[in-house]
Amino acid sequence: MIKVYIKSNDETIFHRIKYVISQMLTAIGYEHAFFNNISEINDCFSIACTPKNSVSYDLSKKFDLLIPYDSYEPWTASCPDIKSEKIGGIPILYIDEMPRFLINDRLIGFDLINIVFYLLSRQEEYSYEHKNFKDVFLPTYSTLYENGILQIPIINYYIKFIENYIANLYPVKPKPKWKNNSPYAVVLSHDLDSLPLRDITIPLHQLLNAFGSRGFINKVSLIKNSLVDMFLIPSDSNWQLSCWLDKEREYNCSSTFFIAGNTKRRLRSDPYYWLSSKIIHNGQKIRLSDLAKSFEDIGWEIGLHGSYNSYKDENLLRKERDLLVKQTGCNIKGIRHHNLRFDVKETWKIHENLGFTYDTTLGYNEVNGFRAGIAFPFNPYDFHTEREYNLLELPMSIMDGSFFCNYGENIDAQKAILRCKKMINAVEETGGMLVVNFHPNFYQTTLPDSWKLYKYILDYARKSGAWVANCGEIADWWSERRKLLSI
Ligand SMILES: [Zn+2]
Repeated sequence: MIKVYIKSNDETIFHRIKYVISQMLTAIGYEHAFFNNISEINDCFSIACTPKNSVSYDLSKKFDLLIPYDSYEPWTASCPDIKSEKIGGIPILYIDEMPRFLINDRLIGFDLINIVFYLLSRQEEYSYEHKNFKDVFLPTYSTLYENGILQIPIINYYIKFIENYIANLYPVKPKPKWKNNSPYAVVLSHDLDSLPLRDITIPLHQLLNAFGSRGFINKVSLIKNSLVDMFLIPSDSNWQLSCWLDKEREYNCSSTFFIAGNTKRRLRSDPYYWLSSKIIHNGQKIRLSDLAKSFEDIGWEIGLHGSYNSYKDENLLRKERDLLVKQTGCNIKGIRHHNLRFDVKETWKIHENLGFTYDTTLGYNEVNGFRAGIAFPFNPYDFHTEREYNLLELPMSIMDGSFFCNYGENIDAQKAILRCKKMINAVEETGGMLVVNFHPNFYQTTLPDSWKLYKYILDYARKSGAWVANCGEIADWWSERRKLLSI
């Protein structure tokens, strides 16, 4: 076991440091425990986290690894100028003092704890109110984007160099990061936003609601939209959910389908179906809810695709989850919100309250990358109440729409594969996890580039020996690991 000594009488600081080090040692795979009394540190491998101004020769001799931490105050300033400097090829964030080295004579040479806390707690999303028209935090305001390192999982690289350092001194082998000792993980998921056949009862429902709505202009606009949906938007029966299932079966893996539990309160922008809507599968018309259950029965996972407004509305999300459970009979463990709507102050709390095991919303619509600088599962942290959530975040890093659609980078398959390759390589190099999200309606007939990219990812993952899994498998694996490692 690795013993970690935290020198601080301040409860908040103690909690934050414990959180950061526990997330990192869990990712590495070492059993660990925390102490605030130096006398409890005996002759095992030991780490000390101590204020920067109290680092001393005597202290450094007592521990195998010394992590000095600075005050967190500069990072909470309303507009901190956070810069990045590469040391040993790894980008290090800093505010005032340039980082000097990664590690030298058992001493970490930069403010590791505050950087990791800043990124994982999503502090910048509390600080900046800049959102896009969908009320979602804009990547262009993020520190990682500003420094041109959004596509580099920098925390993974910090974890990696600490892992290498410990491995040289500590004979105990860490627990495997992934199943079957796979070198890294690729996590497959799909957000179901529409079905091949249009369900006419949806625009009829909209029309009915429109007649009951208030305000003349509002009423006219709602009626117009319902009629457009009814008569002008065609069905697109060129794709089937089974195309994705068959492809994944061919690669001997399974994925998670996030399906909306649309209630009668649905908006036009919500995923365009009911759970009772019909879908053609293997030549037969079948209810979506029945199809979902049949997917679960053969090893795929069904998660909840939270509706447009559910990210801030606990009652609505509860209803949607309950409806999905009731109508499909599936075991619903995880969630991703439609349009990646997410508010750091509320959404994770709602997930925890509703008992979800994991969320996988944390990515951007506009650009692909590592929103929290990490490509491992992690427990989010509530920056206001200073505690870790009982929830796992599986940060989503690659989404088809962010490469190919107008709201994203709008690039072609060749360019997307190139960018994707760099991101997979970084995850592979650091033993991390890449969560990808492909929309089933972007099949080869509607968006061929998306399908090409998906096949590229599956091919590369197979060739490089990745554990290719669905979100639920990863969440279960990681939760179990954390229980064993964090004492
Ligand atoms: Zn969606």
